[in-house]
Amino acid sequence: MQLSASSITKTRTICGYCGVGCSIDLMVRNNRIVGVQPAMDGPANEGALCVKGQFAYDYVHHPERLTHPLVRGGDGQLHRASWDEALDRAAAGFLQVAEKHGRYAVYGVASGRTPSEADYLMQKFIRVGFGTHYIDNCSRA
Ligand code: SF4
Repeated sequence: MQLSASSITKTRTICGYCGVGCSIDLMVRNNRIVGVQPAMDGPANEGALCVKGQFAYDYVHHPERLTHPLVRGGDGQLHRASWDEALDRAAAGFLQVAEKHGRYAVYGVASGRTPSEADYLMQKFIRVGFGTHYIDNCSRA
């Protein structure tokens, strides 16, 4: 079956790969992203996109995309877990490292894909939780 161009809808959004914030139009057909177009009126990009923003969208529908937390079991394998279980495990791991090696053994690097609010929480987590300034952000394409 051949689909017409009219079956494709455009949704304006912001590329989430880095902190530049390029405006893009997601091309969606049958509830799946089939392409990305740069927004000519995007204030940060004015019609341009880097290779990631233009072409790297297949992860959205990838069958191996993580959609739930995983924790390693006694068998050494990763198993599906609840968010509470995964966060408890992560907290215990941070505590164990800090107790064994000191608070400077923990260094935070926030993702360039996170919004400002998440970055704020990340630096609070490090500064308040461990009492250090060992925090950075990889906001680069
Ligand atoms: S990753 Fe590329 S396209 Fe996306 S916001 Fe950054 S510079 Fe723009």
